[in-house]
Amino acid sequence: MSRRYDWLIVGAGFTGATTAERLARGLGQRVLVIDRRDHPGGNAHDRRDEEGRLFHPYGPHIFHTNSGRIFDYLSGFTDWRPYFHRVRGHVDGRLVPVPFNLDSMRRLFPAAMAERLSARLIDVFGFGARPTIADLMAASDDADLRFLGDYVFDRVFAHYTRKQWGMEAGALDPAVTGRVPVVVSRDDRYFSDRYQAMPRDGYAALFDRMLDHPNIHVSLNTDLAEVEPGRFDRMVYCGALDDYFGRSAGDLPYRSLRFEHQVAPVADGLPVGTVNYPNEFDFTRVTDFRHLTGERAETTRLVTEYPIPHTPGATEAFYPIPSEASRRLADQYRAMARDLEGRVWFAGRLADYRYYNMDQAVGRGLSLVEKALAPAILKAAA
Ligand code: FAD
Ligand code: UDP
Repeated sequence: MSRRYDWLIVGAGFTGATTAERLARGLGQRVLVIDRRDHPGGNAHDRRDEEGRLFHPYGPHIFHTNSGRIFDYLSGFTDWRPYFHRVRGHVDGRLVPVPFNLDSMRRLFPAAMAERLSARLIDVFGFGARPTIADLMAASDDADLRFLGDYVFDRVFAHYTRKQWGMEAGALDPAVTGRVPVVVSRDDRYFSDRYQAMPRDGYAALFDRMLDHPNIHVSLNTDLAEVEPGRFDRMVYCGALDDYFGRSAGDLPYRSLRFEHQVAPVADGLPVGTVNYPNEFDFTRVTDFRHLTGERAETTRLVTEYPIPHTPGATEAFYPIPSEASRRLADQYRAMARDLEGRVWFAGRLADYRYYNMDQAVGRGLSLVEKALAPAILKAAA
């Protein structure tokens, strides 16, 4: 007879792996982790190609967090390689820093104009501030800032956002474009977090260490539909929220991507980790993995991201689409999820239907175990 588990964890990405690790190592629970893919790690999975180059098959994953707790937790499973991600955007024929900063202006505008606009930005927001494009456009009683806001919106955000999401920026939650601010300094790092680093041996090695515990059994190439309900007591589900309910209230919108991977001589690689193409082509960005991995060879691996519509069963649901309409439908599913309280918990980028970064997925797993699962275990034992 097959073994019985205290918990079934559906999905071996950062949310599921953190939850499984804490349940097993922290609370002595017996855990079965399943994933329908042939590897753990979810979208953060990495691997080596035939010639040994490390790359990310689901698009570039750069770790960054402001949380010492999350960084310390993951440091139990990996050493780190310090890495500051830098991005250039192709704007008006030039490669300029993105987030748009004071140097971006110097490269795009005549010197005197760049100086005047920089001075206005520093005056209004303060040196080192990171206003969002919405903040900048709201400061519209000032003619210089109105010009700058319109320019940055048009050249950096409007077309990229239309490509990436298949909709206008105004239809999306402003937090989406707010992820990439305008930077009132010459700091050209893409992220401003306190901790920015890549797992020294890659993400796959990190996941292997997280899941390496006698109380954790990992079953790959396994869908939830294939697991007999009698094999586990309770479940944490990290798949798509609407999938769990057979999409009975309607399809939650997701955006998908097609990745084009290529190998090129280093001389044809990129000057920084990623180049964004806000204004031309039907792809959004190209990433050169040698910057992310620190590996040096004569050739390098690049990936180009083409946003595409998501079709359940045919494409991967990579991005929840944060908007007022999707929030209402997600709330309907969340109400259905509440009916399963005490038996099934929903967590992660897909099951919470939230645009989490990796650190937020880890944080979600940690707080789920501490605040909900540990008390549930205690209650059941009482
Ligand atoms: P996922 O990683 O999506 O894992 C969910 C898992 O559940 C999947 O492996 C899936 O196969 C499995 N699953 C679903 N349904 C079932 C089922 N029915 N049965 C069995 N298994 C199932 N974050 C950053 O911090 N930095 C970055 O640079 C970054 N870049 C990104 C680039 C791209 C292109 C994308 C798409 C995301 C990026 N992210 C980045 C976000 C990051 O991928 C997520 O925050 C993180 O991977 C979420 O982890 P998760 O465990 O919640 O979900
Ligand atoms: N964005 C943009 N132009 C850029 C970079 C980002 O318009 O050059 C907007 C776009 O809507 C994008 C969002 O900001 O989806 C968030 O960007 P981020 O790089 O955080 O996206 P992710 O890495 O999650 O795909």
